[in-house]
Amino acid sequence: MVRGRITAVAVSDVRFPTSLGHHGSDAMHPDPDYSAAYVVIETDAHDGLKGYGLTFTLGKGTEVVVCAVNALSTHVVHKDMEEIVSNFRNFYRQLTSDGQLRWIGPEKGAVHLATAAILNAVWDLWAKQEEKPLWKLLVDMDPKQLLSCIDFRYITDALTEEEAYEILVNSLLGKKEREEQMLTHGYPAYTTSCAWLGYSDQQLKQLCTKALKDGWTRFKVKVGADLQDDIHRCRLIREMIGPGNILMLDANQRWEVKEAIEWVTKLAEFKPLWIEEPTSPDDILGHAAISKALAPLGIGVATGEQCHNKVIFKQLLQAKALSYLQIDSCRLGSVNENLAVLLMAKKFQIPVCPHAGGVGLCELVQHLILFDYIAISGNLENRMCEYVDHLHEHFKYPVIIRKACYMPPQHAGYSTEMKEDSTRKYQFPQGEVWQKLLSGHKIYLH
Ligand SMILES: [Mg+2]
Repeated sequence: MVRGRITAVAVSDVRFPTSLGHHGSDAMHPDPDYSAAYVVIETDAHDGLKGYGLTFTLGKGTEVVVCAVNALSTHVVHKDMEEIVSNFRNFYRQLTSDGQLRWIGPEKGAVHLATAAILNAVWDLWAKQEEKPLWKLLVDMDPKQLLSCIDFRYITDALTEEEAYEILVNSLLGKKEREEQMLTHGYPAYTTSCAWLGYSDQQLKQLCTKALKDGWTRFKVKVGADLQDDIHRCRLIREMIGPGNILMLDANQRWEVKEAIEWVTKLAEFKPLWIEEPTSPDDILGHAAISKALAPLGIGVATGEQCHNKVIFKQLLQAKALSYLQIDSCRLGSVNENLAVLLMAKKFQIPVCPHAGGVGLCELVQHLILFDYIAISGNLENRMCEYVDHLHEHFKYPVIIRKACYMPPQHAGYSTEMKEDSTRKYQFPQGEVWQKLLSGHKIYLH
């Protein structure tokens, strides 16, 4: 049962030096240090439970998000958990509508990432208090309660609360069977681990061979820096995975609109399912133009990992600008805003293929996509969740992948809790790992 008054919100800057091995490198982010603004919420309930939440960052800049969490925490400390979750949309509105902080958003950028980190911690705590994994907490809620978590401001021209209610009620049919199906088989995944842009051919071949052996059938390749290199890498991967497996491309916002169409047309022979983030994530009409131009080639447009909020998703859907929608557990305003986007995707009949990887994104988003299948979409066609094979060892409850599928987590909470040893060692800049790196001049601070 939900209980307790929040007594403290603590936040820390936890960074992993992934740039040293080019892990996570792509056409726009050549040297990311995967990091998190990591939030811990405590209450006066004396039950030993804490809420853990995070948002994902690439290293520098985490300190800005940490400041934003501290600035927002005045809306959280002294709040009663019961009061928060019984009118969750109100609490969401309060966090996103601070009359002064809103000016540096609104509902975007560092302040919205901070909102996500805080709310992720609140959801983790709520699920723990109910002794359920987050996906199960959501699955067991009735449609009215789910809707009470969603702020419909700015999206009612695309999806009204009544329509959302109807979607949830219609999806009640077969819910139990779908839950059992997930518990037995899991949710299909694809891997991005084989082909980061900074990897050598040899590394790529080695990782691809291993992935095939492990049962992976869907592979994503980073592209966009050099066309000849892209052709070379796509050919290499396509030859390795064969014609039957699925290949996807990700340009991480590298191109102009016209350039994207020309570039991807030259990669069409490798039969990619989608091109992800071909241009600026804010360019809705640009994405629509690219979608239209590539449709005859059978290539869809995927985007979402850098969509600020539900309004951008609404417009992408309205403009027919995407064929695959990629929610993100740490960029949108937590579960609350993701629920709104999942329901809009259902109405517009666009498959959701979540963004994951980073640090903790797989751990979190698996809950959302499991819920989506069981209680909203009821469909696995053209759907899969991203998976990247690193940094899971820092989490208390890491994801479980079996036969290239996410197996539903069984522990209570949102899988957000990191191991204490990891948060201490990788705390920036005072943790021992960073002290060593900085003193050895392996990484320089700017
Ligand atoms: Mg991507």
